[in-house]
Amino acid sequence: MTRTRCRDRTTYERLAVDCLDVHELRRAGLLGDSWAILGPSLLWPRIKEMRAGRYLIQLELRNQAVNQQIRVSWTRCHYGGARPWLHCPYCQRRVAILVRAMAGYFCRMCAGNPIYASQGKSTQSRRYFEACKLRLRLGGLASLAAPFPDRPKGMHRSTYERLRSRAMTLERGLPTRFRRTPADYPNLIHYLQHRFSN
Ligand SMILES: [Zn+2]
Repeated sequence: MTRTRCRDRTTYERLAVDCLDVHELRRAGLLGDSWAILGPSLLWPRIKEMRAGRYLIQLELRNQAVNQQIRVSWTRCHYGGARPWLHCPYCQRRVAILVRAMAGYFCRMCAGNPIYASQGKSTQSRRYFEACKLRLRLGGLASLAAPFPDRPKGMHRSTYERLRSRAMTLERGLPTRFRRTPADYPNLIHYLQHRFSN
């Protein structure tokens, strides 16, 4: 696949800049036993009103007459507790993330099945992209020239070491010119906004 083709195509990451991430919703306390109502926010500027309960999310979207109903289900975890899932309002597939498409929020497949940014890249560019993603996830800058980020507050030491060693392996295999290559920010914004979920 050529680079031009990649630049022309919408990627999953570009769509997912506006997304509903079940873990973020839960962290925001929106999937509790009582209904929570949320007005427009920075994270979801195109949602006029969100009403969210333990098993259902109702969305009133800007410039759209029909509301969206998103089913929420729960599965039990190995280590106790339960994890929530969103169901695509079109195909009912169970996913963690619904992305914003023309008529509302849908699963990746129903949103036109866009490629992931890394799928349109050469092997080295893909390594570089993955390395940038890891640095962002650790709270650093998407640049190999910047110092490697320290362990973020609240992150387990073992998680940090695992991510750090993965990043080191990726970075060691890259030519030094990548230290001066600008990061693919249009496709990294999604990982920056949702850095604690990815
Ligand atoms: Zn779907």
